[in-house]
Amino acid sequence: MNKEQQERYQRQTVFPHIGEAGQEKLLSSKAAVFGIGALGSVIAEKLARAGVGYLRLVDRDYVELTNLQRQAMYTEKDAADGLPKAVAAALHIAEINAGVTTDPVVTDINAGNIESLIADMDIVLDGSDNFELRALICEACHKHSVPWVYGGALGASGATMNILPGDGPCFRCITPEIPAPGSYPTCATAGVIGMITAVIASIQATEAVKILIGSEDVSHRYLSVDLWNNAFDSVTILKDEDCPVCGKGEYALLEAGVPEDTVTPLCTPGSFQVSAAAPIGIDLDAFAQRLSAIGLVMHNPYLLRFDAGPVSFNLFKDGRAVIRGAKDEAHARTIYSEYIGL
Ligand SMILES: [Zn+2]
Repeated sequence: MNKEQQERYQRQTVFPHIGEAGQEKLLSSKAAVFGIGALGSVIAEKLARAGVGYLRLVDRDYVELTNLQRQAMYTEKDAADGLPKAVAAALHIAEINAGVTTDPVVTDINAGNIESLIADMDIVLDGSDNFELRALICEACHKHSVPWVYGGALGASGATMNILPGDGPCFRCITPEIPAPGSYPTCATAGVIGMITAVIASIQATEAVKILIGSEDVSHRYLSVDLWNNAFDSVTILKDEDCPVCGKGEYALLEAGVPEDTVTPLCTPGSFQVSAAAPIGIDLDAFAQRLSAIGLVMHNPYLLRFDAGPVSFNLFKDGRAVIRGAKDEAHARTIYSEYIGL
């Protein structure tokens, strides 16, 4: 460590469980944060301040006013500018700790790209908001022997668990059946307070630090927290020998690949993501010109926002769009083909 690093991390190196040796390990570690929302933004900020040397920040979404109640780092300006969360987070981290290398990736994580996103990582942090992605993370991390830290929160409650390849249960052991999108409550429908996401994210980040420095104190239990009732509880989960992932090594989701085109319901009712299988580089300037004749258009280097009364959407450079105000998946697909038509 150089002099500046010795001073910056002094409060952490004097903490005997980390020490200078632990700090050196953090500085040379690579972590990926999947989803930079309520959990991921806190995790990314904590790991950046702690000196984890390389952070890959992956998120498909952009900053909105409704995020600011709980999502760390983001500002009203980020929301007004419509910045992708991965880009906004990387910009703020550069101001917080210029010694951290960030790799912001604006994309929808899927079976086609997840392996390349995790293969060179020392750890993956789950900041996602849905079961399908966690099941995919579980398969990819097991296949590549990358540890990951599950986290989830809703209302004033949350839970977290370390998933350590070759050691103990995996996410599929605790969730054998993956619920279908739209079949379970989300932050948009059931609400969430910013305090629980900060608590769960802080525990995830602490476990990440322990895993990265090789601490013997890494948790092997499933921890649940109910902040409203001040209840903390942890249980030991047994590995399911019949688990398709950690028991049998089957990677059904990875092997299924990416469908031709997909429409996915998002957290907010009436919101759908429409994406093409292969990312297409599109000319946002040309789209802005064309669409400005029929509605309000705002665009930055990363995305275009279009609003024409009941129909509104955000179009990303890779051809992906988040449609608002659609009645169902078929309607979202219709809006996409009418206005974007790729
Ligand atoms: Zn398992």
